Amino acid sequence: MRLRALLAVLALLALVPTTASAAGRCGDPETRPWCDTALSPDQRAELLLAAMTADEKISLLGGDERGGVAGGAGTHTGTSDGIERLGIPTIYFSDGPAGVRSGMATAMPSPISLGASFDPRASVRDARVIADEVIKKGNDVVFAPTVDLVRTPLAGRLFEAIGGEDPYLSARLAVPWVKTVQEAGLIANVKHYAGNNQEGTGPLANEARPGNFAVSLGTLATEGSRMRIDARIDERTLRELYLPMFEAVVKKANVASVMCAYNKLNGPYACENRPLLEDILRGDWGFEGMTIADYNAAHDAGASLVNGLDIEPWPGIVYGPESVTAALATGPATMADVDRHVLRYLRTLFAYGAMDRPAFEPNEAEIDQAANAEHSRRVAERGIVLLRNDGLLPLNRKRLDSIAVIGPGADAYLTGGGSSEIKPFAFTSPLEGITAAAGKGVTVTGDDGSDVERATQLAGASDVAIVVPVSYSTEGVDRVCLTFECPPVYGDQDALIEAVAASNPQTAVVIESGGPVLTPWSRRVGAVLEAWYPGSEAGSAIARVLFGKVDASGRLPVTFPRSEADLPTAGDPNAYPGVADIVNYDEGLLIGYRHYDANGIKPAYPFGHGLSYTSFRFSNLRVLKHRTVTVDVRNTGEREGTAVPQLYLALPSRPGVPQPPKALAGFDRVEVEPDEKRRVRFVLDRRSFSYWDVDADRWRAVPGCAEVMVGRDSRRTPLTAPIGLGDACR
Ligand code: BGC
Repeated sequence: MRLRALLAVLALLALVPTTASAAGRCGDPETRPWCDTALSPDQRAELLLAAMTADEKISLLGGDERGGVAGGAGTHTGTSDGIERLGIPTIYFSDGPAGVRSGMATAMPSPISLGASFDPRASVRDARVIADEVIKKGNDVVFAPTVDLVRTPLAGRLFEAIGGEDPYLSARLAVPWVKTVQEAGLIANVKHYAGNNQEGTGPLANEARPGNFAVSLGTLATEGSRMRIDARIDERTLRELYLPMFEAVVKKANVASVMCAYNKLNGPYACENRPLLEDILRGDWGFEGMTIADYNAAHDAGASLVNGLDIEPWPGIVYGPESVTAALATGPATMADVDRHVLRYLRTLFAYGAMDRPAFEPNEAEIDQAANAEHSRRVAERGIVLLRNDGLLPLNRKRLDSIAVIGPGADAYLTGGGSSEIKPFAFTSPLEGITAAAGKGVTVTGDDGSDVERATQLAGASDVAIVVPVSYSTEGVDRVCLTFECPPVYGDQDALIEAVAASNPQTAVVIESGGPVLTPWSRRVGAVLEAWYPGSEAGSAIARVLFGKVDASGRLPVTFPRSEADLPTAGDPNAYPGVADIVNYDEGLLIGYRHYDANGIKPAYPFGHGLSYTSFRFSNLRVLKHRTVTVDVRNTGEREGTAVPQLYLALPSRPGVPQPPKALAGFDRVEVEPDEKRRVRFVLDRRSFSYWDVDADRWRAVPGCAEVMVGRDSRRTPLTAPIGLGDACR
């Protein structure tokens, strides 16, 4: 029997041609030589290009779908029509970073909460869900992840920033994210390249609210608009802060595509910026995929053709047939430029399997909504940060009779606005999650907080009050202040918190925000949690942390300042929002914790901060060979918990090459039982010891001894030791 099976397999194998291998929807290699999977993606793209007419080539530069960007059910954010005669399939594009955006989807937590998880495995889980739904809604390309750094916490889109204010954190989370979606068969699209760190502001900032789509389009900002500004970033700052995440996904995750941003960078618009699109991306990093323009980010067909924009997914604008033909007629762009861009597009389709696999047919019914919701919850709970706790948390339901859940977020779904806005299949609100977790015997009452008097009375009559204030952030416009009153959608929530806390000292505040907010009342409440925009399972994730089903394990990927005056760009309109559409990144390397450290400013809550329900002791820092550092983490409390030891490096400053006081260069996330001790290993790369040498135009190791610092956040790093490359410090 076995022998017969073997013979049958051998007979089948004999039928498979050994020279040209047939290839899925591409077609028969006998008549279409580019469909031969034995050839390299470059060879196949060359063969296919040679078979195309000039009109066919030009037709591939621009997309073909206009309305999908509104996110309607059954639509795609973009499409690129195929060419049947040649076996080029139609390619479908979808947002985005928090889930697929066509009709309803599983809302994953806002990407900044992935940053707060300090957990590359959460990134994989997140990416799997998004890939699953992007594919089952029939798409080939996902416009994500967003890796732009948080330069100012006023930025409307900071909730999308996967690594918050730190490039190392961003890269550590974006690399597994990109690998995961591409392993699922998709083309990832890292964005927005580069210097896209603000939306702009103006009177409309007060109009931002859920459902006001006009604002999120981002064309209305009057000052510092992303559509017009020139981000002036010096070369060293660019290489060390604003580019490393892009570089990492190119080199370590082989990302298939890059979205160029709306803004100008040091002169030209990003989508016609030769240093960005050709010299750095391809020349320095070896990128071989395709560049895609953000929607309406291309301005001039000729300049884009010559300087490195491969495709524009929105139809008929800059890369439409008429404007491309006109640009070719006037020069300097030539048909050779068109060929180069089409070749890269085709090569990407070959290299990432889109030509050879069957189409991803839309099949929403196959989405396992319950399973994906569970993944969403697990990602969300890893990102929830316990900012402060005077012993109120975790709640013990056996000791409670009544809980009040108060505030605009108590029984509402919240998501950031714009192209990451997700309409959830289903949603569990904080009130629902807390009610379910409290169980029978505990009365849980909700109140939206619109009537402060009523809410205060409810709080006073309850054992515990949980206030859920909401801060709305959206693409298209920045916030004009860092309190809950910007934008003024939900009334005076600070006053609400103060009033509730005055009537019941057992008050916990669960913030739902896109990023840092001011927390002037924090000492008057029993506990403060930051839950970001937690996605579909907001309520169950929040409840599991409140009741201690899981440890509070998130850590801040952004600094929470005490005052707006402390921001790196405060008081300098040239730095933010810019003057006459020029934004000078004068603070250089000093954004986020680098700024607070360098200027000796005490934050409200520092980068990396987050309490646990247990306590940990870090000890025994050892610097081993090969740039390996180990440290012991002991759980000194009474319950299991998650420690997030963080490693920072302080490089020595030299004349002309100042260094920030410290920079994150390693972290881990470890679960530790009471009394258990775990040894954590960090392996530092050469890059951590290097700076961008502007004159030599390359990375250069800082000579001499650096200091390695390990601790629980950027301000508490009690373990230190000298460290250097080679034998410098041994
Ligand atoms: C955003 C992109 C998004 C695109 C399509 C733009 O406004 O900047 O991130 O992918 O819209 O929705």
